[in-house]
Amino acid sequence: MAATARILDFLRTEKPEGPCLVVDLNVIRDNYAAFDRAMPGTRIFYAVKANPAPEILSLLASMGSNFDTASVVEIEMALAAGASPDRISFGNTIKKERDVAKAHAYGVSLFAVDSVEEVEKVARAAPGAKVFCRILTDGAGAEWPLSRKFGCEPSMATDVLLHAHKLGLNANGISFHVGSQQTRLGAWDTALEQAKSIFDECASVGIHLQMVNLGGGFPTKYLKAVPGTNAYANAIHDGLAKHFGNAIPETIIEPGRGMVGNAGVIKAEVVLVSKKHANDNLRWVYLDIGKFGGLAETMDEAIRYPIVTAKDADAKAPCVIAGPTCDSADVLYEKTPYDLPLSLSVGDEVLIESCGAYTTTYASVAFNGFPPLKSYVI
Ligand SMILES: *Cc1c(COP(=O)(O)O)cnc(C)c1O
Repeated sequence: MAATARILDFLRTEKPEGPCLVVDLNVIRDNYAAFDRAMPGTRIFYAVKANPAPEILSLLASMGSNFDTASVVEIEMALAAGASPDRISFGNTIKKERDVAKAHAYGVSLFAVDSVEEVEKVARAAPGAKVFCRILTDGAGAEWPLSRKFGCEPSMATDVLLHAHKLGLNANGISFHVGSQQTRLGAWDTALEQAKSIFDECASVGIHLQMVNLGGGFPTKYLKAVPGTNAYANAIHDGLAKHFGNAIPETIIEPGRGMVGNAGVIKAEVVLVSKKHANDNLRWVYLDIGKFGGLAETMDEAIRYPIVTAKDADAKAPCVIAGPTCDSADVLYEKTPYDLPLSLSVGDEVLIESCGAYTTTYASVAFNGFPPLKSYVI
């Protein structure tokens, strides 16, 4: 989404030096309200990793959000924002046993697992806790897939949950993540069908699952239009009705990108416009931000951010866009060059839109001496 009037105002009056992210909390407030309205009865667990700025966590905590966390530090951030431990899940399937113990000591009692080995850790370090088993999805249709590394084959899930049950844990349900920036509405249907068959298998061995965690995947609009929140809510509702009939389970969603992506804009600057030989038509435009400054999701050119300049009315031509560091991996768009104004020149400001998710925390600490991405939440 384009910069809001508040963001533009902030940039005009504060004139922050260097590349920075500016996040408008009003957009996040609207996003939360839209999820809540579209999916009443579904608990929202904000995926903290998308943007853990304290102001964002506090706003969401005050609106009633729950939090999906990936580490003890994220749990502490959610607690500091005002969430009670019963509103926090430890959703990473790869946890140190001592971190499970710390989470348990904080009162967190909802954990993700995807293997019997992880179940054993949780059973030892958080006795009696609720666990849900994450299953693999193929991530088809997602621009930033999260498949393979997380989740077990659906055929193994019943064994994982049965093991949890035998060790005194509360085998609570199934989770999946259909892949981030998922634009295929049907992705949830396939996963829900698998979830239902695991519910049935578990029931046949005496375990009555309660919950389906529908994960994240809700998109942000970058260059291409994406379906709205209501379209996702309807697709999920239809999938639940189709597969679970009148025994609809409790549901959870874990939006990250869809909650904060469109709320932030990065202000950056053109450092150099050059060519590789005298007759070259292709310009290289170097910005003061790149892969190591927070735009890591340009890896494989997966996420294509809208870039706006004051010269967009001028004629445009394709160019390569690269970051400022001395690493040749620090190229944002080259396989598919990006149209920028021919008049763009050194010192010009550019606004990179829809950068609220997965930017600040991906920035390196001091690669080449560049500081981590600054962030202003207004
Ligand atoms: C990253 C992550 C999310 C958030 O995904 P988005 O696509 O950004 O909404 C949700 N749940 C889990 C378990 C995750 O790892």
